[in-house]
Amino acid sequence: MDEFGLIEQFLAHATGRGEDVVLGIGDDAAIVNLPASRQLAICTDTLVAGRHFLSATAPADIGWKALAVNLSDLAAMGAEPRWFTLALTLPEADSAWLEAFARGLGQLAAQTGTSLVGGDTTRGPLAITITAGGWLEPGCAIRRAGAKPGDVLCVTGSLGDAALALKRAQEAADARSSESAAWLRQRLDRPSPRIEAGRALAGLAHAAIDISDGLLADAGHLRLDGGQPGGIVIDTRALPRSDAFRALAPAEIATELQLTGGDDYELCLSLAPEDVAEAQHRLADIALSLTVVGEVLAQPGLWLKDADDCHACDETRQHGFNHFLQKTEGKGDGG
Ligand code: ADP
Ligand code: MG
Repeated sequence: MDEFGLIEQFLAHATGRGEDVVLGIGDDAAIVNLPASRQLAICTDTLVAGRHFLSATAPADIGWKALAVNLSDLAAMGAEPRWFTLALTLPEADSAWLEAFARGLGQLAAQTGTSLVGGDTTRGPLAITITAGGWLEPGCAIRRAGAKPGDVLCVTGSLGDAALALKRAQEAADARSSESAAWLRQRLDRPSPRIEAGRALAGLAHAAIDISDGLLADAGHLRLDGGQPGGIVIDTRALPRSDAFRALAPAEIATELQLTGGDDYELCLSLAPEDVAEAQHRLADIALSLTVVGEVLAQPGLWLKDADDCHACDETRQHGFNHFLQKTEGKGDGG
């Protein structure tokens, strides 16, 4: 089947019809209306087979995740995602694969009210690039810079679930062997971008980033008000754990998975201590927890605190996954 046939058959239904989409798939370019007094936030992310997802990943999950990692970036800005384009590189025109891929993609698109407005399809090793756009009220974006010394560092949800699922998959543990194992695998394959949390905390949080490469690596990208690096202390005892993580994470690597494992797609936010209760209250409305895991200091550096002491974090641990260093399949980074 030719490129047009594939698009028509499988992707058209993910198109949706956001009221701001004037012209979607089918012409030389899409047209969207910009609402009055809104700014456009744009981001893009690529998933490559064997690098960002295990090659055995179900195509429906790949479709979901390709969109989720982009919506997570918009969520971290406090933006309202509206539409996206899809550049698809496929080794062959496999209609069963495309049908499932479009289904997973379409599920998250429907759930988030986002529309596929166009894209490109080419032949080659499997890779998916999505570019997503969303609206922001001018001046209301939560940026990576803006943290203040004395702020507390908070994270949504739980950390380490996806990294544990990936580790189990690499060790060929059966993802369906228990409810906990299946739940963890969902966290790896079908992350929930924290869109509502980002919107709820815009205007309250001083700075934010989504956690795709591990808490240490991503928190290290936060900056102070003036754009200069600040210091961060993370209390490893405070890192939030899901029930499934508690049940299945080997004790000796649990903290490491939470600090350096990828694919959490939670938000890491810098908040004034007096605003934490209000932030938690706002997230309770969407049934999401917000946990204080550390604090922001004026002095640059990254420190880890536990029951025994507080020590500077080794540089190499901060870097999270680096695409050009690691060659093994499935590294647990999506960003
Ligand atoms: P062109 O040759 O002008 O680039 P294409 O043949 O690539 O046009 O695409 C035709 C139409 O189909 C365009 O509207 C394009 O946005 C859409 N399209 C192509 N590939 C995809 C895709 N993977 N997802 C969504 N829309 C697509
Ligand atoms: Mg094209």
